[in-house]
Amino acid sequence: MSPSGSQSDIASQATSSQATSSRANSLSDYRLLALVGQGQFAQVYSAVHRRSGRLVAIKQTRHARETESHEPLVMCKLNHPNVVRCHEIITGATGYQLVLDYCEGGTLRSHLNSTQNIAAPLPIIEIKTLISDILKGLSHIHRNHIVHGDLKPENIFLTYPSEPRKHRYPLAKIGDFGSARPLRDPSHSHKEIGSPTYAAPERFEGQSSPASDLYAIGVMLYELLVGDRPFSGTPEALKKAHQTQSVFFPATLSSSAQSLLTTALHKNPRKRFRTAAAMLSTLQQLSEDTENLPPPALPKGLSQSSLSQAAIAIPSHGISAPIASLTTIPQGCCIATDRSLHLLTRRRELLSIARFRQPCWITVSPNGKWFVAISKQPTTNKITTEVPSTNKAISQHTVSQYRESKGMLGSFSARSGHQRRRFLTLTGPLLTALRSHTLQLIGLDARHFARISTNSTKTYIECFTRRSQFVGQMSLNLPLSQVIPTATPYQFIGLSTATARAPATVVIVTLKPFHVQPIRLPIEPQKVSALPWGYLVSYQRNALLLDRSAQVLNRLSEVPTGSAIAAINAHNLLIASTKTAAKNDLSLLVANVKSLNLDIIF
Ligand code: ATP
Ligand code: MG
Repeated sequence: MSPSGSQSDIASQATSSQATSSRANSLSDYRLLALVGQGQFAQVYSAVHRRSGRLVAIKQTRHARETESHEPLVMCKLNHPNVVRCHEIITGATGYQLVLDYCEGGTLRSHLNSTQNIAAPLPIIEIKTLISDILKGLSHIHRNHIVHGDLKPENIFLTYPSEPRKHRYPLAKIGDFGSARPLRDPSHSHKEIGSPTYAAPERFEGQSSPASDLYAIGVMLYELLVGDRPFSGTPEALKKAHQTQSVFFPATLSSSAQSLLTTALHKNPRKRFRTAAAMLSTLQQLSEDTENLPPPALPKGLSQSSLSQAAIAIPSHGISAPIASLTTIPQGCCIATDRSLHLLTRRRELLSIARFRQPCWITVSPNGKWFVAISKQPTTNKITTEVPSTNKAISQHTVSQYRESKGMLGSFSARSGHQRRRFLTLTGPLLTALRSHTLQLIGLDARHFARISTNSTKTYIECFTRRSQFVGQMSLNLPLSQVIPTATPYQFIGLSTATARAPATVVIVTLKPFHVQPIRLPIEPQKVSALPWGYLVSYQRNALLLDRSAQVLNRLSEVPTGSAIAAINAHNLLIASTKTAAKNDLSLLVANVKSLNLDIIF
């Protein structure tokens, strides 16, 4: 078949080589969920296959490139774990859509951009893993006589694979074949050079070959190891630099890394690695010695304030520890233990919302209008609530109602207290919540909540309406030990479960569109909290305050150990901690953020 096949050629080749179903492929087989990204030439949506429930990315080309794209033709030839797989090609009157593997880890560029102000480069083992993945994928691409032509961190997609790996780093897959060309294309000139930062010297003369793809990987490896690109400037300056300027190696780079990069970035394509496999075998011998490298550190001159000094104690009215969650809502901050729900109003009035005789999972809606409580006891057929007759003081509460149910939907009154209740009949997926390991329930929006559960390898996110009807689910191949909803809708911050080999890491999980972003910090995080303007990560007796784009703003010292922290409003934090390890006594502190001298503009 000629490389520049018509759309019907493309469709027939796609169906035969991918061995998809024999029925005509159609976009109506998928439920579109959200716009994930916009490239120069395409819009990409997340979608679920209606029958199988598989999460996919649908790439819809917006307008034609200067030269015809070989993307669909090329993609349907490839099938490798380190290449974004094309499951089907849907042709329509206006063009075609590619149905691709969904990569929830985003691109290598977004991975590198997290916490830019932290001098914490990727660990050398992670760099070797990522580049090895890319080289394995590239070897498969070249064996299929294809040149990618636009390798750069923006076109490397990350995912957390279900197959067990020795470590918790994401798996890298090569994607975006918009500039790819069959090697034996008679018109073998590559007019579009892709990104000039990653382009080999010969690319500027319209030439491309597997060696130019290997040069681009050399630039990426340099960027990962050094933290900067070998050359920068205007496209003209980049052309000159790639063609004539020698590459500078900082003294911190090991000699084995320098020698590998010298070969990969050779000006003469014939003197580079002959194949991706040859570069991979040299990479695997690269020393993991980090002796020369400066240790990961917090930004210099980071301001620091004492949290305890700025905090004042408020009465806890006998709320007993441990705290299951603190959730900021428009009325103030909700405090949930596993048997009670309270509200500390913006005027610092502590109200009792509901008490339960059985341990429950409790979640509050982000708009502060309702809460859901579900019994933790699989054998119990009922949830018993004791609702205070007056909201003012917990000591005055009387048992007002008993009802039998495994779950309850309650609403807040206009005065912030608890008003009405509706007992839920739990169906299918929520009933399994009683049997498996639920980590937390979290309110998603005005009508939905999610149940987050986890095992040793995965985290499951199941969405329900507030009346307990199952809506859908997603899973993430990363076990989490803590999850807290953030101020951004459909997003939570979590801590991955620590193992003997991997310490816990902070991850931000967004559900719409599904995206998982680990946050690299030069500390071992113990607890995460979400604030209206960012996040707080506690470690030992300190905490780092991060803004919404995960840049570190300040360090707080004297943070009470094991404390849960949330905002009551934009200016006040609530800190809940146990007074002594032995007792269930809770201490509640309120700290005015303005008195902490933080670098935040209110
Ligand atoms: P470019 O501007 O680089 O030419 P493009 O128009 O060819 O891009 P892609 O790079 O394929 O498009 O995708 C654009 C964006 O869509 C990506 O940056 C990414 O955010 C998102 N995206 C693309 N493919 C996937 C995928 N398989 N899974 C998840 N997100 C994806
Ligand atoms: Mg791209």
